[in-house]
This record gives sequence, structure tokens and C-alpha cells, in this order.
Amino acid sequence: MKKIAILGSTGSIGTQTLEIVREQKDIEVVALAAGKNAALLEAQIREFQPKKVALWEEQAAITLRESIKDLPVEVVAGMEGLLEIATIPEAEILVTAIVGMLGIRPTIAAIEAGKTIALANKETLVTAGHIIMPLAKEKKVAILPVDSEHSAIFQSLNGENENSIKKILLTASGGPFRGKKRLDLEQVQVEDALKHPNWSMGRKITIDSATLVNKGLEVMEAKWLFHVELEQIQVIVHPQSVIHSMVEYEDGAVIAQLGTPDMRLPIQYALYYPKRKNLSGKRLDFTKLSNLTFEEPDLDTFTGLSLAFKAMKRGGNIPVAYNAANEKAVSLFLERKIPFLKIPEIIQMCMEQCHFIVNPDIDDIFETEAEVYALIESRW
Ligand code: NDP
Repeated sequence: MKKIAILGSTGSIGTQTLEIVREQKDIEVVALAAGKNAALLEAQIREFQPKKVALWEEQAAITLRESIKDLPVEVVAGMEGLLEIATIPEAEILVTAIVGMLGIRPTIAAIEAGKTIALANKETLVTAGHIIMPLAKEKKVAILPVDSEHSAIFQSLNGENENSIKKILLTASGGPFRGKKRLDLEQVQVEDALKHPNWSMGRKITIDSATLVNKGLEVMEAKWLFHVELEQIQVIVHPQSVIHSMVEYEDGAVIAQLGTPDMRLPIQYALYYPKRKNLSGKRLDFTKLSNLTFEEPDLDTFTGLSLAFKAMKRGGNIPVAYNAANEKAVSLFLERKIPFLKIPEIIQMCMEQCHFIVNPDIDDIFETEAEVYALIESRW
């Protein structure tokens, strides 16, 4: 039996990870963590019987302790709780499926404890890749991508150890506003931005897909995961989301991974790597794929993507500013306090105004986050 722990078990990636556990029946869930959704966490506890669970809020943890007192499950809380779940001795694999920079400390703790990381929480690598990747190398810990594009790249690298990557072709669906211009985006509402054409995901990443900030974060994630230069990553809009990303080699050969848009595939691939197992669900029918199209991204309209390249080029703590500003701006947009186009404007302002730190350590990263939040809160 494989033994796993999941951070963010009640979210989109977390629940799909548990669907795989339910289907495959050969994975034991030893620990789970969520933010505040105690009701769903309780249902997961009763079904999967982990040894330990965490909720972010102490009060919610106290209530949960009371409602599952018939079970031998320890309930912990806060960052201490997340760290306990991330390092629980019984787990071999940690699935990092929480949103945002909150994942940094638990991911580092899990690497130090020798856990394989199935990484969905891209914000962790974007902001602390310069700490996490060398640490994983030192501890000989594998970081297996869960993001569908990075999983596709990872799969396209199979058997190519001797060969260096010429180029990564990172595909993007273009999101719900593909083809629109800035003028069209002035009035968009939260509901419009939450309508992703192909993928069903959590709210934050769905908004990130609409601004193309998600693709920006993925560019940065790819740079860390696959040790390539920024110039070797090309974003290509491919609205059908059939090709999940590609790798071009020195001889011009391009290897791609294709499939239906189903996040369970990359999640399962990370859980069983390098083994492939049967997975229920739709298969690609090539006779019905009459139209696979590709376009350049519109960087004038979707400035969130070009800002990501700028942030990564500048380096230091600027990707942290990019990410933290986006996290805050997205929540303001979801609360209907700012219009859609303000999101990249806020990111740009924070990238320009935060104090530059060349080689930020963990404390610097969180100080940059606090500085960016203060900057935004002083104006919105
Ligand atoms: P969701 O918003 O659906 O889920 C987030 C999860 O994190 C929930 O379980 C939530 O708990 C938990 N959480 C939130 N705050 C805290 C906290 N303070 N302490 C502990 N747990 C917390 O997100 P997604 O599943 O969509 O995304 C997760 C990560 O995976 C993100 O980094 C995203 O970019 C990445 N990703 C997602 C993809 C997708 O298809 N969804 C694809 C590729 C990457 P609660 O429910 O209690 O709030």
C-alpha cells in the first residue's frame, strides 16, 4: 500500500486525489489538511480513516475534535498542524494541493523529512524555487508535477536523460476571454471570469486562468522544475486543451502528451510514477479531433503573462511580489472590490514598488508578501 498525506484535501485537486484513492483501492491516506471546510473534512475522515488531520482555524479544529470523538483521529490546527501533516512519519508522498504561499513551509518541512512531493501548489515554486529545488536535490527527494502542463512536459522527458531540452512549448487554453481586447474586459464580472472553457478548478486558479497569470506562474514553475532558461519557454495558446504541453529537442523532434482535460490523470501519474495504471473516464477519439489550433498569446491584452516573464527576468523577490500581489488582487476581485483589469495593474505596481532583495530567504519572502499586502491595503 502506498501511503499519502494531502494538504488541501477539500479543494479541487484534493478531492480528485481522493477520487483516485477511492478508485484504485491500493493507497492509504494517513493524513489530511484543509482550511475551514470541517464538514467535508469530517466526511473524508469517516471514509478514508486517516491518523491525523489539520484545520487552519483552532476553533474549527476544536469543533471537529468534538464531532469525531468516536474515531481514533488526532486533530491539529494552524501552521503547526500543517507541518505535522506534511511530515507525518507514515506517509511516503505528500500531495501539496493548498493554494498560495502558505504551502512553502510545509513543503520544505516535507522535503527535509524525505517525502516525495506531488506538487500542485505552484505558488510555492514560483516564490521559493531557489530554496526548494536545491534542497530537494540535497535530500534526494523527487518533486513530481501535478499541474497538467508540467506533467505533460515531465512525461515528454521520459527516456531522454541523455538529451537536453531545446525548448518547452507550454500550452494555454487562453481562458474564457481568449480573443477579447482590453475594452471588452472592462466590464467583466466575477461569474464571467469563473467560466473556464475546458477545465473545472478552484476559484483562485480559474481567475488566474482568465488573466493568464496562471500561465505566468506556470512559466516560472517550469523554469524551476526543468532547469531551463526563460528564453527556452514558449507559451502557445491551444484552445482545445488536447495537447497538454510539449518538449522540443536539439534535432527538432517535438514530443507531446495528449489527453482529455482531466486533472485526475496528472495526479495519478504523480502518485504512481513511473507506473501507469488504468483510470476511468473519457479517452481521446482522434477521429473527432478535426481541429487542433495554435496561436500566440495576446500579451497586450493579457499583461499578467508578460509581467511574469519580467518578474522572472528580474529575479530575487520580484516573483514573490508578482505572486503575492496577484493573490491579494484576485481576492479583491472575487469580493467585487476591484474590476478585472485592475489585477495586472496591481501586480505591476507591486513589482515596481517593493524593495528589491537579490537572494531572498524564507523570512524575506514572507516580508515581501507583507510589504505587498500593505501596499495594496493602503490603496484598496
Ligand atoms: P481549491 O481552492 O479548490 O482548494 C484549496 C484547498 O486548500 C482546500 O482544501 C482548502 O481548504 C485548502 N486551504 C485553503 N486555505 C488553507 C489554510 N489556511 N490551511 C489549510 N488548508 C487551506 O484549490 P485548487 O485545488 O484549485 O488548487 C490547489 C493548488 O493546486 C493551487 O496552487 C493551484 O494553483 C494548483 N493547481 C490546481 C489545478 C486545478 O485543476 N484545480 C491545476 C493545477 C494546479 P478549505 O476547503 O477548507 O478552504
